[in-house]
Amino acid sequence: AKAAGRGIYRFFEPEMSARVQARRRMELGLRSAIANEQFAVHYQPIVNAKTGAVVAFEALIRWYHPERGLVPPAEFIPLAEEAGLIPEIGLWILKRACRDATAWPTGIRVAINLSPLQFQYRNLVGDVEGALRQSGLCATRLDLEITESLLLQNSEVTLSILHDLKALGISISMDDFGTGYSSLSYLRRFPFDKIKIDRSFISDIGETSESLAIVKAIIRLGEALKMNIVAEGVETIEQKSLLCRVGCQELQGYLFSRPQPADSIEAVLQRISFD
Ligand code: C2E
Ligand code: CA
Ligand code: CA
Ligand code: CA
Repeated sequence: AKAAGRGIYRFFEPEMSARVQARRRMELGLRSAIANEQFAVHYQPIVNAKTGAVVAFEALIRWYHPERGLVPPAEFIPLAEEAGLIPEIGLWILKRACRDATAWPTGIRVAINLSPLQFQYRNLVGDVEGALRQSGLCATRLDLEITESLLLQNSEVTLSILHDLKALGISISMDDFGTGYSSLSYLRRFPFDKIKIDRSFISDIGETSESLAIVKAIIRLGEALKMNIVAEGVETIEQKSLLCRVGCQELQGYLFSRPQPADSIEAVLQRISFD
C-alpha cells in the first residue's frame, strides 16, 4: 500500500496522520524492545531428506509487543530497516542465536537471516567474528541466509564481505530462491553453499507439473554447482515424498515443526528422531 505513492494520500489527511502516528508508535516501541526484553528468537528445524535427522535450526525473530501481542517479523523488520534499527537488532539476533546453538548437539548448525542493511551500516565481519568468539560457537556451524535484494546493491563490497565470511568457515545460503529477478547470474557470481527454494514453489508441487519441473531443475542446478538444496515450507507428506523422490537434500516446514522457542529444542529433537 505504501507503494501507492504520496500524492494519493493528499485527499486523506486524517487517515494519513493516523497511519503515520501508528508507525511512529511502533518505531518508538521497536527502539526500546531490546532493552525491554521483548524480542525472542524461535528456531525451526531443517532435516536431512534421506535420514530425517535434524541438520540445522533456522533462527526466526519474534517481537512480543506489550499491547499488540506477537508482531510478525514481516511487519516489523521493514520498519526496523527504515528506522535505522537493523544494526542493533541484527547484532542482538546474531549473538543470541550463536549462544543458543552452543547448547545443541555439535552436528547441528544454526542458520541466521541477514538484512541487506547489515552489509552497509557496520563492520559485519567483525560482528560475526565477535558473536562466534563470545559464544564459543565454531564458525563451521554457522549458516548465514541472504536474499537477492542484497545482491542488487553495491556488489563489489558485498562480494568481498561474503568472501571474508566464507574465509572464517561460515556457509552462505541464498534464501527465497526463484522469487527475484536474476537469480541465475547471482549463482555464478556469488559463493553460495546452499540454495533455499522459495515456499511458493513447494506449496503447489503436488498440483502443478510446472512447479515440480522448476524444483527439479533447481535441484539439477545445485548438483552441477555443488550447492545443497533446501526446500522451505514443506507442509504435507505428499510434498515431502515428491521432494525426496527428486533428490532434494534438505527439508524445512510445518510438517516437521513450527518455529519453537530455544527451551523447546530438546523436545523437538526427541520428537523428530522418533518420527
Ligand atoms: P524466511 O527467511 O523465508 O523464513 C521462513 C518463514 O516461513 C518463517 O516465517 C517461517 O515461520 C515460515 N515457515 C516455515 N515453514 C513454513 C511452512 O511450512 N508453511 C508456512 N506457511 N510458513 C512456513 P517468519 O518467522 O514469520 O519470518 C518471515 C520472514 O521474516 C523471514 O522469511 C525473514 O525474511 C524475516 N525474518 C525472520 N527472522 C529474521 C531475522 O532474525 N533477521 C532478519 N533480517 N529477517 C528475519
Ligand atoms: Ca530464511
Ligand atoms: Ca526463505
Ligand atoms: Ca520467504
